[in-house]
Amino acid sequence: MRNYKFRIYPNKVVEAELNRQLDLCRWTYNRLLEELNKAKEEGRKLKRYDTQKLLVKLKEEDKPELKNVYSKTLQMVNQQLWNNIHTLAGRKKKGYKIGKLRFKGYDLFKTVFYNQSGFIIGNKKIILSKVGKIKAEFHREIKGNIKGITISKRSNKWYACIQVENPKQERKQIKLKPNTSQKAVGIDVGLNHFLVDSGNNYVENPRFLQKTADKIAAIQRQLAKKKKDSKRRQKAKLRLNNAYEHLQNQRKDFAHKLSTEYVKNYGIIAVENLNIQGMVRNNRLSKSIYDAAWNLFISYLSYKAESAGRILVKVDPKDTTQRCSVCGQKNTEHLQLSQRIFKCSYCKIELDRDINASRNILIKALSGREPASMLAEPGHIPLRKQRQVQTLKREAPSVRVE
Ligand SMILES: [Zn+2]
Repeated sequence: MRNYKFRIYPNKVVEAELNRQLDLCRWTYNRLLEELNKAKEEGRKLKRYDTQKLLVKLKEEDKPELKNVYSKTLQMVNQQLWNNIHTLAGRKKKGYKIGKLRFKGYDLFKTVFYNQSGFIIGNKKIILSKVGKIKAEFHREIKGNIKGITISKRSNKWYACIQVENPKQERKQIKLKPNTSQKAVGIDVGLNHFLVDSGNNYVENPRFLQKTADKIAAIQRQLAKKKKDSKRRQKAKLRLNNAYEHLQNQRKDFAHKLSTEYVKNYGIIAVENLNIQGMVRNNRLSKSIYDAAWNLFISYLSYKAESAGRILVKVDPKDTTQRCSVCGQKNTEHLQLSQRIFKCSYCKIELDRDINASRNILIKALSGREPASMLAEPGHIPLRKQRQVQTLKREAPSVRVE
């Protein structure tokens, strides 16, 4: 159970009604307590159910005004009384000196309960049965199943406390296909390739991206030469827009196909939390175009992995290039961007730099999560073999899976 407390603003008429309700509840409380005390003196023992039944009699005979109080609210008064009795009995058991349960004096009854029904919570208002509409300020979103509402008065201000039962925690069981559940892959997005993964697959930079980037650059140059507000300039602008739109579609298509391949084939996919700042491209435009393509790929991967019950882990890219994925040592010598081969100064292994990075990404993702046996191929892989992988076609990317 969770409570949300909000200030409410009853108008004069409704406030008078709320005050009347409070007083009728107070009267009922005191009357039931009186009955209990009387029964005790006479040696009778009343139970919660007995006093509840008494409510009906009170309404019919002693105090017809009680009909103006929502029936469940009155039942809650009875409940409140019994809660107090139990609390008192509990304290007595613990050895506290306790007196008798006291009657509620004027203005000492401050809360009206609505349990399960008799209320509607709407947009900026609460409607209470037998009371009316009250303006409310919901400064927080109410999440879950509303179980009840209590209206209380504190120093002439009114509050609504909404009790909410927590919705069942949405837990999705992750079901992996048996043939892929043991497969995990680390993906390094890179400079020389669109990506390289720890299973020694790589995806070339889609050539269409470069082509469209060149085209866009050309149109931009033309545009700069055109006179302002000229027809030719307008036409060039239109061409530019079309080129961008075309680019976006190509990127989407590419990212869709590629992400689907990975989600189909792997149970756990590890990627870098993208940090492309360090990546230098010869011109800004193509950099931004590739950045966008990577981002799109990662975001598609993310939602597809979730809906397919796969695990996508984003790891901190720190040291993924400098560390040796075989012996785990961090090499002090900085790897230049031009250096394609990672040479470990500790264990002397030589690895393709991107494959080394992608394996480190996978190791990071799996550390503390799964046994290292999930690594596709730990250890030494002859350099020649690393490049014997399928080069993916431009428009129909697919990833060969070992
Ligand atoms: Zn090493």
